[in-house]
Amino acid sequence: MSLDWISRAERLSALPPYVFARLDELKARAREQGLDLIDLGMGNPDGAAPQPVIDAAIAALNNPSNHGYPPFEGTTSFRASITTWYQRCYGVELNPESEALPLIGSKEGLGHLALAYVNPGDTILVPTPSYPAHFRGPLIAGAEIYPIHLSAAQNWLIDLSSIPEDVARKAKILYFNYPNNPTTATAPREFYEEIVEFARHYEILLVHDLCYAELAFDGYQPTSLLEIPGAKEIGVEFHTLSKTYNMAGWRVGFVVGNSDIIQGLRTLKTNLDYGIFSAIQKAAETALQLPDEYIKEVQQRYSKRRDFLIKGLAELGWSIPPSKATMYLWIETPVGQGSTEFALDVLQKTGIVMTPGNAFGEAGEGYVRISLIANCDRLGEVIKRLKQAGIRYQ
Ligand SMILES: *Cc1c(COP(=O)(O)O)cnc(C)c1O
Repeated sequence: MSLDWISRAERLSALPPYVFARLDELKARAREQGLDLIDLGMGNPDGAAPQPVIDAAIAALNNPSNHGYPPFEGTTSFRASITTWYQRCYGVELNPESEALPLIGSKEGLGHLALAYVNPGDTILVPTPSYPAHFRGPLIAGAEIYPIHLSAAQNWLIDLSSIPEDVARKAKILYFNYPNNPTTATAPREFYEEIVEFARHYEILLVHDLCYAELAFDGYQPTSLLEIPGAKEIGVEFHTLSKTYNMAGWRVGFVVGNSDIIQGLRTLKTNLDYGIFSAIQKAAETALQLPDEYIKEVQQRYSKRRDFLIKGLAELGWSIPPSKATMYLWIETPVGQGSTEFALDVLQKTGIVMTPGNAFGEAGEGYVRISLIANCDRLGEVIKRLKQAGIRYQ
C-alpha cells in the first residue's frame, strides 16, 4: 500500500536510483531458478576475522562492564591503539584525545561528515566514478556535486587543473580515495602534495578514504594523506577494519586528522548515535596490533586471486594490467555493451555477479568491477562459465 498523505523528505528524492536494486532483483530470480550464483558484486570479504580478534571479542563479551553504553568518543584504549598503529604505519604523530575518532564503519563517518559540514547548495567536489558514500552523503545534505571526471587515459587520477577556478573557489569539500575503489588506481606521493597545496590554496576540506591501506601488493605501500606536511590543517582520513581484517559485519572504522573537523563530526554523532559496542572496540584494538605476518598473508591471498583471474580473463581476450592494490579488478566491457547491459547478460548466462561500473557514477560507464572475494577454485569456475557462455572481450 502506498501512503499518499505523507511524503518523504526532499533530501531522499535527491538520490539517484540505486543500480544495485535491479541487480538484486535479477539475483533473486536466478536463485529461484536454482542457479548456483557466484557473487563477486560487493566488496564484502569472504572468510572470518582473525582468530585473535574473535577471541578478544569473546573475552570482552564475558566482561559485563562492556555491556553498557560505550563512551561517545570511543574507548580510550581503542583511540590509543589507533594512534599507535598510525605512528607505526606512517610515522605520523596524532593526539588520541582529539585527532582520532572511532566510527560505526567508515561509511557512517563519511556520510555523517557531510551532514556536519554541508549546507544545502554548497559545492562539493567528488570524483566520478567513486565509492557511492562519497556522493550520497553530500547529496542527502543538499550539496551541489561537482563531478571530477576520471579516465583510463589519466590512470584514473584526479586532474586538479580540470577544475574551473570559480568552482575551486566556492568548493567546500573534496572527497578522494586511493588506492581507489572501483578503478584500483593508486596515486603517487607527488599527487598528495599537489592536492594538499590545492586544498590549502582554495580553503577546501580534504576528505581522504584510505580503506585499502594494507591491501597493496608487490611491495607497493600506499601513501597516507597525513604524511604530507600541512595536510592535518585541512584534512581528515578515513580507515576501516572491514577489508583487511574481514570485519565488514562488525561495523568498525575510524577517522584521523584535523581536530576541529573531527570535533564537528563528533558533535553531530553525539546527537545521533552512541558509538560502537565496547566489545567490538576491544576486538578492533586487537586487530590493529596483529603482527605483520597477518597482513602479508592477506596481501598474498588477494594478489594470488588477482593473478589467477587476470590470467583466466586474458584467455578470453581481456588484457588487464595487475593492480597494485585493492580487492578488485576493473575491466572494460566488450565494445558496444554498456555496463548494466553486460553485467545483466553475464548474470543471466552464467550466474556470475559483477557490479556495473555506472553504479559508481557516470564515468564508470563502459566498465564492470569484479571483487576478488572467492578462492581460486571458485574463480576457476568463473572462467569456465564465461568460456562456456562465449563471453569474451572484443
Ligand atoms: C569498503 C569501503 C569502505 C568501507 O566501509 P565500512 O563502512 O568501514 O565497512 C569505505 N570506503 C571505500 C572506498 C570502500 O571501498
